[in-house]
Amino acid sequence: VPPTALSERSLSANGWGFAGTSFPPPAALLSWLAERLGATAPRSAVDPTAVVLPAARPLPELPAAVSAEPMDRLLHARGRGFSDLVRLRSGRLPAAPDAVARPADAGEVEALIQACSRHGLRAIPWGGGTSVTGGVNTLAGAAPAVVVDLAGVAGLRRLDARAGLATFGGGTTGPALEASLAPHGLTLGHFPQSWELSTVGGWAATRSSGQESLAVGRIEELVAGLELVAPAGRLSLPALPASAAGPDLRRLALGSEGRLGVITEVTVRVRPRPAERRIEALLLPSWEAGQEAVRVLSRSGIDLQMLRLSDPAESEVALATGLGGHSWEPLARGWLRLRGVGSEACLLLVGGAGSVVAADEALDDARAFLRRQLGRGGVVSLGQRPGRRWLADRFRHPYLRDGLLDRGIATDTLETAAPWSALPGLWSAVRGALVGGLPGEAVPVLCHVSHVYPDGASLYFTFFFRAAADPEEDIARWAVLKRTATEALLAAGGTLSHHHGVGSWHAPWLHREVGEAGLRILRAAAREVDPAGVLNPHVLLDPVDRLEE
Ligand SMILES: Cc1cc2nc3c(=O)[nH]c(=O)nc-3n(C[C@H](O)[C@H](O)[C@H](O)COP(=O)(O)OP(=O)(O)OC[C@H]3O[C@@H](n4cnc5c(N)ncnc54)[C@H](O)[C@@H]3O)c2cc1C
Repeated sequence: VPPTALSERSLSANGWGFAGTSFPPPAALLSWLAERLGATAPRSAVDPTAVVLPAARPLPELPAAVSAEPMDRLLHARGRGFSDLVRLRSGRLPAAPDAVARPADAGEVEALIQACSRHGLRAIPWGGGTSVTGGVNTLAGAAPAVVVDLAGVAGLRRLDARAGLATFGGGTTGPALEASLAPHGLTLGHFPQSWELSTVGGWAATRSSGQESLAVGRIEELVAGLELVAPAGRLSLPALPASAAGPDLRRLALGSEGRLGVITEVTVRVRPRPAERRIEALLLPSWEAGQEAVRVLSRSGIDLQMLRLSDPAESEVALATGLGGHSWEPLARGWLRLRGVGSEACLLLVGGAGSVVAADEALDDARAFLRRQLGRGGVVSLGQRPGRRWLADRFRHPYLRDGLLDRGIATDTLETAAPWSALPGLWSAVRGALVGGLPGEAVPVLCHVSHVYPDGASLYFTFFFRAAADPEEDIARWAVLKRTATEALLAAGGTLSHHHGVGSWHAPWLHREVGEAGLRILRAAAREVDPAGVLNPHVLLDPVDRLEE
């Protein structure tokens, strides 16, 4: 994975990622969408330098470097979820942080949030700002808001190569983290799609999951120890291989989304860096057969890096676009028809890693295993080219959203997980809720399984709708879809979030998963460590529906 020096590239103020980088939607995707959505009108984004923010309120002196520059405030006003992009593109922001503070170390973080607590200022911990759940958004409120940008609390602090433990500052981004492990022949292997910008502290705070979770586990399996700084003091949890010393407080910090403190340091379990990553694309006869194949394959003992199964609609789009613009598709389709693979076919990406031989062996074993399960005709290999394309583009895919919005096509994703037995019902329920969610408007939906466990798997949905002329109407339409889909996934036995977290957008539904008793425990913990309630007050425990704010 090529490292990217964040400091050398400026961030986009109204889209994903880096200014000047794009990933234009492939023509085949646009025509697939046009067939379903009809004509859409282009929408341009306003010039970020012309955006007028609500005036910054005066703040007391704070014990860290502080900026109230308009561009800094704009860059730290919102995360990168759908309504964030719409608000940033339209320049209509109901609120913005009054200042951005940049503490240099954990001591300054502690002094800063204590000062926020004393002066009644909201403090919003900011890692990469890639939240898609309203987790870093400054919302309108009486108390001034200070974004605590952790970019200065970053870098490799300690490496215990013998134990495979590496300690990083909480603000270390994915590329910086991997770049500092690479010279030691090590990797963390945690690659969320937001990897180029998101941080190890943010991953821990949101219980993130990377694309290779099958091999390395979720972030909670990777975190061995951490330090959490709250207004009431520091919680230092050492890296231990295992412990029975009472309830695991690491697990309380993981997923705490800034409500229980700022994660200033994280010790992660690292492993030897694989020499090679190989991905083979296979076609399986149907979505049902595909899910069962993935379930048994994941339990087969074959050492795989990744399993990603697309439903028929997503497979159709992936094949049509050649996974990013390659037009081998007509040939492949003809060949597939000869092999008896019809429109219900599902695309499975199978990943192996290690030495070249080990990676290829894993793929050979997986293919042979699936052929034993589904019969020779039930598994059609498309080779490794689509997988190479996918690997090359995997961190560029998020730029597609901006290109689609430019063309008047709104798109967002949502994700959940459930036991295998509930998965088919969950897929139908969420899909149905989205497809029928906007009466009179088409809502095409794609889905894939991308994180696989012995007892179940995640479902990741992508949906599209026609953008309206008015950005507020776009957000209102999106909020309707979010609400119906969230109700549907909870009713069908899915989790509120498999890896995007709760933020402010999912918070009103959290009680449905953890119950009132669960919320009371979390509220009591937050009151104890943050008595003035200054840390991320709208996140995790706020019952108000803030989707349209
Ligand atoms: C295009 C795109 C793709 C994505 N793909 C994935 C994916 O594949 N897997 C996945 O898991 N997620 C994904 N996400 C969601 C997001 O990237 C994750 O939630 C990520 O873990 C957030 O990290 P961050 O550093 O950007 O945190 P931020 O967005 O800055 O913050 C997220 C939340 O954690 C809090 N926080 C941040 N840092 C700290 C800290 N050090 N201490 C305490 N609280 C903190 C914030 O206040 C906020 O509530 C994606 C998002 C986008 C926009």
